[in-house]
Amino acid sequence: MGIGHMGVALAAKRVAPGASLGVLFLAAELLDLLWPFFLLLGLEHVRISPGWTLLSSLDFYDYPITHSLATVIGWSGVLAIAYYAARRDLRAAWVIGIAVTSHWVLDAVVHRPDLPLAPGSGVYVGFGLWNSRAATTIVEAVIFLAGSALYLRSTAARDGAGRYGLWALLALCAVIGVGTWVGQPPPPSVHALAIGGLGLWLFLPWAWWVDRHRGPAR
Ligand SMILES: [Zn+2]
Repeated sequence: MGIGHMGVALAAKRVAPGASLGVLFLAAELLDLLWPFFLLLGLEHVRISPGWTLLSSLDFYDYPITHSLATVIGWSGVLAIAYYAARRDLRAAWVIGIAVTSHWVLDAVVHRPDLPLAPGSGVYVGFGLWNSRAATTIVEAVIFLAGSALYLRSTAARDGAGRYGLWALLALCAVIGVGTWVGQPPPPSVHALAIGGLGLWLFLPWAWWVDRHRGPAR
């Protein structure tokens, strides 16, 4: 899934107001933030198969470290414990852990059955919503818009950076969302896909910066 994960991060701010949106993005997107590194290291693999699903040409046939339920629960624990150790905010640590695992659940909605339960397990989960443009668009747009609304209602801009920086961030997410729903040409190579995927990291400092320029809504 694409911007649905962003929607989760935005919504999480309401339940964990102490956590920066940058950290919440890190949590909701952690698996996809790590995935390019595992591809580049040759530890995980993807195949570019045009037409594999209607909206994605990627055959995720081997990504048990970043995207198996068992390891995802492990990643959740690592990030939640690290956050708790740094900030002593138990509530936010729980929200962060749940946000990491929510990524796997949302991916399972849209992917073909390619999400393993554990490394080496023969059981794969996926409901294949990417084969329906209408269903993908509705589900992702609802999650993203609901998350945006919750974030906008629970925070208020302190200055122009908090206001326009946020709108620019949401607008970029919306453009990415529309790109998903229209369908993109297959990437030229797995290497190019992995390098492009690293661009997701840019959202973290941006979200962190925006969040610093917003305070609790009154
Ligand atoms: Zn993913």
